[in-house]
Amino acid sequence: MNCLEKRILKDGVVKPGNVLKVDNFLNHQIDINLLDEMGKEFYERFKDKKVDKIVTIEASGIAIAFAVARYFNVPIVFAKKAKSVNIDGDVYIAEVESFTHKNKNQVIVSKKFINEGENILIVDDFLANGCALQGLISIIKQAKAKIIGIGIAVEKGFQPGGTIIRNLGYHLESLAIVDGMNSDTNEIILRNQN
Ligand code: 5GP
Repeated sequence: MNCLEKRILKDGVVKPGNVLKVDNFLNHQIDINLLDEMGKEFYERFKDKKVDKIVTIEASGIAIAFAVARYFNVPIVFAKKAKSVNIDGDVYIAEVESFTHKNKNQVIVSKKFINEGENILIVDDFLANGCALQGLISIIKQAKAKIIGIGIAVEKGFQPGGTIIRNLGYHLESLAIVDGMNSDTNEIILRNQN
């Protein structure tokens, strides 16, 4: 079991509506040593590929992206969630439905930060239905850059995102895959990935 899996079992809180709270260590309070371990683990899984840039989505993806980017020694670009967009043609845009807030956001990336032909590793905190990832994929495709892989901290394996993204042919690595959870008992079932 890796350090993230152990930490999820210790400190993860299951909320109704299939939401796993990891506020204690990942996306409110952040355990920097855990994130460093995660960055190293993602590096090990993708180090045979050429990575020019890490792309993520604000806010929770940024800290994880930083941990990974340290090991690859490359810049991070994060997609911004834009509610009322004044679009001026200088940005790539995708529509993303938020799993946790149930609303739709446009996410944008300035055209100057993703270049044609760049090798991109996408990183995010959670994978549920795959909307956030599809938005990032769309933006990177618009830029004619290349997606060399996708690193996810927590994949909820009982939701369709992982299957959808793998079926699209992407190399997707999830540090922890949750196969089931119960908000009454706080039971969390992790997939054995060894
Ligand atoms: P998707 O777009 O794959 O449906 O959902 C992914 C996004 O929703 C992630 O970027 C994450 O911010 C949020 N998310 C989805 N499921 C969970 C969850 O169980 N817990 C938390 N904290 N965030 C989640």
